[in-house]
Amino acid sequence: SLTIGIVGLPNVGKSTLFNALTKNDVLAANYPFATIEPNVGVVGLPDERLGKLAELFGSEKILPAPVSFVDIAGLVRGASKGQGRGNAFLANIRDASAICQVVRAFSDPNVLHVDGKVSPADDIETINTELILADLQTVEKALPRLQKEAKLKKEKAATVAAAEAAFKLLNDGVTLYQGAASAGVDLDLLGELHLLTTKPFLYVFNVDEAELGNEAFLDELRALVAPAEAVFMDAKIESELIELDEDEALELLQSTGQSEPGLNRLIRVGFETLGLQTYLTAGPKEARAWTVPVGATAPEAAGVIHSDFQRGFIKAEIVSYDDLIAAGSMSAAKAAGKVRMEGKDYIMKDGDVVEFRFNV
Ligand code: GDP
Repeated sequence: SLTIGIVGLPNVGKSTLFNALTKNDVLAANYPFATIEPNVGVVGLPDERLGKLAELFGSEKILPAPVSFVDIAGLVRGASKGQGRGNAFLANIRDASAICQVVRAFSDPNVLHVDGKVSPADDIETINTELILADLQTVEKALPRLQKEAKLKKEKAATVAAAEAAFKLLNDGVTLYQGAASAGVDLDLLGELHLLTTKPFLYVFNVDEAELGNEAFLDELRALVAPAEAVFMDAKIESELIELDEDEALELLQSTGQSEPGLNRLIRVGFETLGLQTYLTAGPKEARAWTVPVGATAPEAAGVIHSDFQRGFIKAEIVSYDDLIAAGSMSAAKAAGKVRMEGKDYIMKDGDVVEFRFNV
């Protein structure tokens, strides 16, 4: 499954954040597989629509879409040269589908910073540099082999060109995620190299509570990573929030000027960064969100529930969530002509409420 790897320098709040994520019963609800390994957490994608659907259909259970996070410790300055846990963490990052860097922006003088000062820009560069150095080594090692192959197989010339262009970008200190598109580097050709910096990045800035509402400050941080997404939270507050009952949590949230926990935003942004969206099903048993890649067709979406649904796909009965809620019930939505029959070429939209028709 698609996993978001959490990286960052030591002492920036990774464990605090990861523990809050995985201890959050609400988010981990109904997932018996929520803890697979100590450093892997599966949490539910917060989605208010499911609660509304459950009301409408009298569903017994609510099943949000699962989102996986893996806490990848050990990324320190010099890691690509074998410092710290060295290559062990590189293998973990290779397995992740997106990279989430936690960046310290909180000022607490009691928490030591490994480089002696709090500087989000420097920390981001330190981590990027390690990942870039690791990719440079990979490309450098692969190039002679690729060049040799290209002498035998003409079609490999494009791969060599892509690898050379990637090398140049990396050598200039640019991640492939940032630079490949504008430099015209076809990353699909380099898939076999399992490069790290081709993965989508997102950032969590761990800020002081007092700064959560300071838009000028947050904008400066945003600018450091744009166009990658930035999520802001106070990890310490997040770890307190999960210990409170609902009313107390709401009170604490409001006192920090937030409408929802930062963890919820992180899960949502992470899910989007993976290129995923959900469609919904509802009935007396469960109201459930199913994960599909953006651009998936109706039969592909059916296949997420069961491969038989995809094989025997006939059509999908679809109403958009908003139309369904506006109508007030499925029968009212049907009467209003809002329920469509879609065929095998239909491209799924986020929030489609679906019932599949299929042959067995
Ligand atoms: P990791 O090494 O990145 O996993 O960092 P930890 O989560 O272990 O945090 C390192 C230290 O910083 C711990 O003492 C935490 O309590 C503290 N810490 C983490 N997040 C925050 C925060 O948002 N504010 C403050 N003041 N301290 C924090």
